[in-house]
Amino acid sequence: MLHIVKYPHPALRFASRPVERIDEDLKAVVREMFSLMYESRGVGLAANQVGLPFRFFVLNVTADPDQADQELVFINPEIVKRHSWEDDEEGCLSLPGLYSKVRRPKKVKVRAYNLSGQEVEFEADELFGRAMQHEIDHLDGKLFIDYLGPLARHGIKGNLRTFESEFREAQKAGAYPEDAEIIRRLKEMPAPTIAAVSGPAPADA
Ligand code: ZN
Repeated sequence: MLHIVKYPHPALRFASRPVERIDEDLKAVVREMFSLMYESRGVGLAANQVGLPFRFFVLNVTADPDQADQELVFINPEIVKRHSWEDDEEGCLSLPGLYSKVRRPKKVKVRAYNLSGQEVEFEADELFGRAMQHEIDHLDGKLFIDYLGPLARHGIKGNLRTFESEFREAQKAGAYPEDAEIIRRLKEMPAPTIAAVSGPAPADA
């Protein structure tokens, strides 16, 4: 029912709201997000990437569904510490096929709640540390392409134009409402619910 939205879907620029309640709906959404992430061979997926404007993301640095013990859910995450800097390559399931070097803190400490509602803390560098930062950015409506300098940005102009025209075509074909309507729904969505704006609105039977 959910699907991963691609640039420039407005959900990707939406500053998500905190999760107030962990319930069965949220757990079902988390399961579905892990499946979508594995299908696309990603290591992380933020809620607004499936059209849900709430502050949580899923992560499995192995990208391997057989290593489910590595699955982590971050609810209302916050970066509480950052150490030094590093450039490394990044990609994003909402900008498939696009990769670029991004400068970020090398190591971060992140505080969040897990799916049992317990407070958890992770301090990590490398892929784990970078992925947590990338996903938290999503929740703030930020994308990795925002960090690129003018030259690197110029280099991906064509890719962005392609994503843009594909999305506008999908809107024209009725797969998505107009931007203003998507934003209205994002603002009004009361709580994590499976009725996301990631795809066509369910037909009223
Ligand atoms: Zn991403």
